Amino acid sequence: MFIDFSDFILNENEIYREYEDVINVDLNHTEFSLIGDIKYLLAVSKVNREILADLTVAYTMERPCDRCLNLTRESVESTFQTKLVDVADRQVIEDEEDISEYEYMEQNKVDIENWVREIVLVSMPMKLLCSDDCKGICPSCGGDLNETECNCAEYSNDPRLDILKNLDI
Ligand SMILES: [Zn+2]
Ligand SMILES: [Zn+2]
Repeated sequence: MFIDFSDFILNENEIYREYEDVINVDLNHTEFSLIGDIKYLLAVSKVNREILADLTVAYTMERPCDRCLNLTRESVESTFQTKLVDVADRQVIEDEEDISEYEYMEQNKVDIENWVREIVLVSMPMKLLCSDDCKGICPSCGGDLNETECNCAEYSNDPRLDILKNLDI
């Protein structure tokens, strides 16, 4: 799926435009899965002969909780700013600056699906808990301490386990 910026670029009177849609993207990623579609809002503006683009993505993802491993959902909304440049200028830019700030147009077109996929992947939360006070898994018996209260702690006075209890993971 491509967005064609030709008429926006050619129309000198137009300096701002928004594109909004809902798309389904295959992340090809094992750890995360997306629940439903991704909403995006792309706002492009002309600033000093350059085209700046703010791409906002909103989606709900699911993966195991970092402590108890139960599947947990989180809604994410994230905005990234980039410059839109013609692919012909790629070499010049790569020699000069940080390439991650650029998205390339080919004949004034950009593959929006690819772009949204990139933004979603970098916006995925590094930490995820089912709740802030998730008790996690018992290191001895493997039981989910949110659901069951095992007796392991009573039988063990190993001080090393206290460290595990207080560990913020
Ligand atoms: Zn949890
Ligand atoms: Zn236990």
